[in-house]
Amino acid sequence: MKVFKFGGASVNSTERIQQVGAILKSYHGEQLLIVISAMGKTTNALEKVVEAFYDNKKEEALQLFEAIKQSHLTMAKYLLVKTYNSALEQLSNFFTEVEWLLHDKPVQGFDYYYDQVVCIGELLSTVIVSAYLNETGFNNHWIDVRDIIRTDDNFRDANIDWFYSRNKAENVVLPLLKEHNVIVTQGFIGSTDENESTTLGREGSDYTAAVFANLLNAEGQYIWKDVEGVMNADPKLFPDAQLMRELNYDEVIEMAYYGAQVIHPKTIKPLQNKGIPLYVKCFLDKDLPGTVIHNKHLKGLPPIIVLKENQALIQLHSKDFSFVGEKPVADLYQLLADTRIKPNLMQTGAVTIQVCLDNQPEKMEKLALAAASIFEVQVEKGLTLLTIRHYTEELLQKMIAGKTVELMQQTPDTVQVVMK
Ligand code: ASP
Ligand code: MG
Repeated sequence: MKVFKFGGASVNSTERIQQVGAILKSYHGEQLLIVISAMGKTTNALEKVVEAFYDNKKEEALQLFEAIKQSHLTMAKYLLVKTYNSALEQLSNFFTEVEWLLHDKPVQGFDYYYDQVVCIGELLSTVIVSAYLNETGFNNHWIDVRDIIRTDDNFRDANIDWFYSRNKAENVVLPLLKEHNVIVTQGFIGSTDENESTTLGREGSDYTAAVFANLLNAEGQYIWKDVEGVMNADPKLFPDAQLMRELNYDEVIEMAYYGAQVIHPKTIKPLQNKGIPLYVKCFLDKDLPGTVIHNKHLKGLPPIIVLKENQALIQLHSKDFSFVGEKPVADLYQLLADTRIKPNLMQTGAVTIQVCLDNQPEKMEKLALAAASIFEVQVEKGLTLLTIRHYTEELLQKMIAGKTVELMQQTPDTVQVVMK
């Protein structure tokens, strides 16, 4: 069997949903588990609903939600005839669930409400797409992924309970696959043992698909995107970016770590652990080869360029001019863990440590305050982090020409530059 994932951009208009149908027709007869995201920018819109609700702006929250409701109803009306009534009933149940919650006053943490509201996006989109596919003769069975994927209650960044989820995948999903051949379900969401909804982190649908691929021993995972495949640089910034037909897990992990928005970083591990290949395919032209990502060792990869904007550089200078030794470094790592900051680059010198990180003012302020007892702290903002894998000296010089370099780290394989 194969696991497919269609992102929000592939289901954000009636034409695109029809295109999903067209792609699937060419896989007719195969066992498929299809993971789908919320339509277009629905997740962002739902975030606004929760923010208004948590600000005690009930009317505004309800109004914002009404707009989301209407756009889904319009989509359903346009696409569905025979299945319209049953889909409408399912959609209405989800609408009611949210509206019911929005009428309350917030008494729990923000992240809890976030997950209860935001999870609706994928439930709505999958109901519509599943009904549309059934209506056009591509028979499939819709499931609520919250009955299968169990997580802890770390809302907004929940962790999978692999043992429970594996059991459900084997005892519920596999028999359903045998019976219906095609299953349509949601990415990005799960539920706790108390039936509270959870989410797995923004853009988490790729990860859900990988979790299913692992649990069901899929022969491959296919991510359908509105790009040709994985490129060696962002084509919007670098017009001569090239498609990479083949990559390996290590390379993709590195790219994601350095900030390339190719594939959700958590996606690779479940696939790598079982040696399942990941295909990035073009949604607009299914016959294009796309990119395959697997375990093989690869030679001769082109330079891969990743730019991460909006970076900050924190300079920590040891207070009494004593050499920066193990103790302050250990203290600093503890501070980073406590403030939940993931540094993008660190450099330790004789009396200073430099940390490059995403510019997140609140977290940085916390860190600076806590570090002030050990270090003199200086912060510089508005920087860019450039990473080049498999670089050449010539390309590096070209990329940093005219910039002020604040920090550079170089290994034979990778160079990273913090620059202005
Ligand atoms: N709908 C979610 C998001 O926009 C999950 C996903 O698209 O992967 O973040
Ligand atoms: Mg998405």
